[in-house]
Amino acid sequence: MRNQRSGAAGAPLHAGSYYAATRNDPARYPRLDGDLDTEVCIIGGGFSGVSTALTLAERGAAVTLVEANLIGWGASGRNGGQMIAGIERKERLTRVWGERARDVFRALRFRGHEIIAGRVERYAIDCDLVRGAITAAARPGHMKKLEAEYRAEEDKTHVELVDRETVRRLLGTDAYHGGLIERRDGHLHPLNLCLGEARAAASLGVRIFEDTPAMAIKEDNGLTVTTPTGRVRARSVVIAGNAYHRLERRRLGGLLFPAGSYIICTEPLGAERAEAINRDNLAVIDSNLVIDYFRLTPDRRLLFGGLCHYSNRDPRSISGALRPRMERIYPGLARARIDYEWGGHIGIVITRVPLIRRIAPEIYVLQGYSGHGIAMSHIASEIVADAICGHSERLELFEKVPQWRIPAGQWLGNQILALGMAWYRLKDWLG
Ligand SMILES: Cc1cc2nc3c(=O)[nH]c(=O)nc-3n(C[C@H](O)[C@H](O)[C@H](O)COP(=O)(O)OP(=O)(O)OC[C@H]3O[C@@H](n4cnc5c(N)ncnc54)[C@H](O)[C@@H]3O)c2cc1C
Repeated sequence: MRNQRSGAAGAPLHAGSYYAATRNDPARYPRLDGDLDTEVCIIGGGFSGVSTALTLAERGAAVTLVEANLIGWGASGRNGGQMIAGIERKERLTRVWGERARDVFRALRFRGHEIIAGRVERYAIDCDLVRGAITAAARPGHMKKLEAEYRAEEDKTHVELVDRETVRRLLGTDAYHGGLIERRDGHLHPLNLCLGEARAAASLGVRIFEDTPAMAIKEDNGLTVTTPTGRVRARSVVIAGNAYHRLERRRLGGLLFPAGSYIICTEPLGAERAEAINRDNLAVIDSNLVIDYFRLTPDRRLLFGGLCHYSNRDPRSISGALRPRMERIYPGLARARIDYEWGGHIGIVITRVPLIRRIAPEIYVLQGYSGHGIAMSHIASEIVADAICGHSERLELFEKVPQWRIPAGQWLGNQILALGMAWYRLKDWLG
């Protein structure tokens, strides 16, 4: 999962995923060569960076984006493609935000979906966006929580609580005890979405540079982002490198911990088998604390994700680790060929509330979606873009949320997270 480089030319490559094999936009962007001036310099070309760039460009700002590898090279081009709404840790946020919390949750909950769907339409981004998702109860006791979520929904038009028999009909498995369907959530091809948003940003004048790692941000008479092949002078800088960057350790160290997350993708299963295992083409996420998730691709493969590793070491065989989990749900896929397997880094923050804030008057950071970043990164990028344009009310709400810093650094942080994960696994097992 480190930088993949092609042998001779030494150019970066996307991870060898189903997504890289089916990317529909061949655009490549040049390496920065020399110095330039801009209003906003964005570091990182995943959803956080590209979406911030696009939002700012739509408002007329001059934006430059530097990406160490390729657009969508990080988690944004490798994830499960599950577009799921929601902000985690509502109770914690309610304590911090007080009476504003309810309105903020309501305004933000599906804002990421709206931004994504709006762009898919406006810029004709072909990214296989499909609506419909189900949280499937992995233990009988988990239905209580799903029932409570259903009861709490003010508008039940888009949600449906289903029993074990219905889940069996929808998903062709006995593994689950019922579920909650949310028809506004869904799934998509994340790499093609990210590339499409980058193309849209470039069409509005954003200067994008690939293979251009930011090495440092210098604060001296404005801001200067230095790279091996040039410098970008800017009024504002946005750090959007999530789990892959090491910038600003003094101010950001100990706040975010990278964890490995993994996916396998089967051979095409054919219309009949695909229909039998996911009749309504839903994004499926189980109700465990340590989740498995899966969905079909348009060519009817099963794309199955799970596992979380804090050791910074990939499993020896990703399919060896994930396949038994897939077969527990679908024993009938025991002979299905695995065509792709890959992993990527998610950025975990201990509080599970994304880190969206200023670390200096004009240096912004957005990161730490704890594995649920497709929708949330789009929300966060709008919040940061608003603040850069002078409307910082929502940013200030996130700045108020205390984040836990583990000063001893990443190794200790990852051990603490690993312990936490073992505890969650035990809780899942106990039901
Ligand atoms: C295997 C996996 C499955 C997932 N599944 C889901 C899912 O189903 N649903 C969901 O909502 N979320 C999922 N996630 C999480 C989601 O993908 C992330 O939260 C989201 O993509 C984060 O986007 P980002 O732009 O912040 O970071 P990234 O996409 O990781 O992008 C960061 C970029 O910054 C670049 N960069 C880093 N440092 C520098 C530097 N110094 N200079 C220049 N560039 C730099 C990197 O090269 C990288 O391209 C998953 C993640 C993984 C890894």
